[in-house]
Amino acid sequence: MALVVAKFGGTSLGGAERIRNVARRLISRKESGDDIVAVVSAMGDVTDELVELAREVSSDPPDREMDMLLATGEQVSIALLAMAIHDMGHEAISFTGTQVGIVTDPVHRKAKITEVKVDRVREALSTGRIVIVAGFQGATPDGQITTLGRGGSDTTAVAVAAGIGADVCEIYTDVDGVFTADPRIVPSARKIDSISYEEMLEMASSGAGVLQMRSVEFARNHGVVVHCRSSFTDSPGTIVKEADETMEQAIISGVTHDTSEAKITLRDVPDRPGVAAQVFTAMADANVNVDMIIQNVSEQETTDISFTVPKDDLGSANRALDDIVAKLGAREWSVDDSVAKVSLVGAGMRTHPGIAAQMFRTMAEVGVNIDMISTSPIRISCVVAADQVADAVRALHDVFGLGSDESGGEDEPTHGGGE
Ligand code: ASP
Ligand code: MG
Repeated sequence: MALVVAKFGGTSLGGAERIRNVARRLISRKESGDDIVAVVSAMGDVTDELVELAREVSSDPPDREMDMLLATGEQVSIALLAMAIHDMGHEAISFTGTQVGIVTDPVHRKAKITEVKVDRVREALSTGRIVIVAGFQGATPDGQITTLGRGGSDTTAVAVAAGIGADVCEIYTDVDGVFTADPRIVPSARKIDSISYEEMLEMASSGAGVLQMRSVEFARNHGVVVHCRSSFTDSPGTIVKEADETMEQAIISGVTHDTSEAKITLRDVPDRPGVAAQVFTAMADANVNVDMIIQNVSEQETTDISFTVPKDDLGSANRALDDIVAKLGAREWSVDDSVAKVSLVGAGMRTHPGIAAQMFRTMAEVGVNIDMISTSPIRISCVVAADQVADAVRALHDVFGLGSDESGGEDEPTHGGGE
């Protein structure tokens, strides 16, 4: 008997029949003797549709009200799934984030979980019921509803798994696991059987949409084993856990890409101590997540600073920048949203010199110009023109030999980007 948390994403819950399928799956798991907690996302594209509706009524919706709105999506799913299970003659009970005690900080739209109480979950499990928890949402200590950032149901699942001491946190999704590249771009991309937290963290933070980055961080910090797998088949997916000898010792694990960021450039910023601090303090105060940063060599006492931010944060960034640019006496600032980031991730980079050189050479050979570069000990990322990113991903996947030997065979991966 195992204690299992199983998270189902929007695609797996897209419509009544799919909800009934998830119900069947949970019941058969329960009947095999496991205790099971399901964490669910909003159905299908509901969250996107709610975001769109908000935009139609307001050019800049307040974050608190966005959370109030977006949290409704998951509440629909938990109720319907519980009903479906009841209809099949089994006991289930649904809880919102507030009800199970997912306590967060007050940063609306990307709140961080500060405490997971889960007493209610334990209690309901002890009565033999299947427990269903709304993903993506929590509440501040004083009862304000918050959400955990897009894709946040993954983090709810891992947090609940940590809270109840689950044996495994299974993330059911519309792809077969974590791939060496997005199979929609690289048909020969291969499913990875197991990967370390460290590498998965870099993959998730650089665009592998299959797991929310924060969920991987949480899993690493609490030692939760995550199994990322398809909700449409029974085949094993990708296990994310602490690195050990059983893992394949690939130098490079994967090539990821990300089109969700924009590049901001400040021109002719005075070159004196404290300027960068002022710019990025302003971004931090506006809760803008800054990714890559480049500052040019200064000419005539001024310099240019470029950095990337999520396109979703552009509204807040814009407001903060108007102010800061005036204060600093910079000449101007601009936004380029036709950029993308391509990254190479692999723990073997630490010990194998020449990976960066080979990456840049490969990109040059396919005529892709590199705009910005950043690295971590196990990742190299380049910002390039958005319309060239697919070429870069394909060339890199090929050069580093990441594909399966026979592509296009029976093992053709399920296409899709993760949900
Ligand atoms: N429904 C939320 C979203 O679409 C949370 C999730 O799916 O994980 O981002
Ligand atoms: Mg997701």
